Amino acid sequence: MASVVIIEDEQRIRELAAKALAARGHEVHTSATAMDGLQAVIGSSPDLVILDLGLPDLDGMELLKMIRAVSDVPVIVATARGEEPDIVLSLNAGADDHLVKPFSVEQLEARVRAVLRRASVAPRGTPVTVGGLVIDGAAREASLDGEVLELSPKEFDLLRYLAEHTGEVISKRRLLAEVWRQPYGGSEKTVDVHLSWLRRKLGESAADSRYLQTVRGVGIKIVEPA
Ligand code: CA
Repeated sequence: MASVVIIEDEQRIRELAAKALAARGHEVHTSATAMDGLQAVIGSSPDLVILDLGLPDLDGMELLKMIRAVSDVPVIVATARGEEPDIVLSLNAGADDHLVKPFSVEQLEARVRAVLRRASVAPRGTPVTVGGLVIDGAAREASLDGEVLELSPKEFDLLRYLAEHTGEVISKRRLLAEVWRQPYGGSEKTVDVHLSWLRRKLGESAADSRYLQTVRGVGIKIVEPA
């Protein structure tokens, strides 16, 4: 079971897809426009997005790029038959899979299953472990070598997001979008400040880092200390 955002302007297709996925136990949000869809993606951090490329207010490809700038959520694009160049472009722009319309409910379900399996969605609340760090999202508690860390809510969210992407360099812009929910505004200084507090609580510093490693000019990653 996953949370899915469907962005599709054709009411019939939108409702059919929503009904099929809801019947599979997924939590479904539908949007008829690109702007509403973008808000849903930013606001609800879904596990999967199904995106129609032909939308009334914005080209679906542009929306895909906007989503990719702020999120790594798996995206399945839907295109009309005969738009194969769009499929290649969309895969290059960061789509995970595609569906050609008209598609059957069975095709939709198969694609959704495959993409979710690839993304290996951890059930919500499963604790994440990185070396001696354990981050329990359900209990909103983090510990280091068995000692509970006293973290502010934002420090916790920041640590959890980094830990869910262990080994991956995350830009400060993406942290502003994913942790602070400020995809277009906000200051990277905010991220710097919280990172330095977090470092202190983990007993490390930028000069002597163990878990939190800065990649100059790119971003930050969390790693298991050697
Ligand atoms: Ca359309």
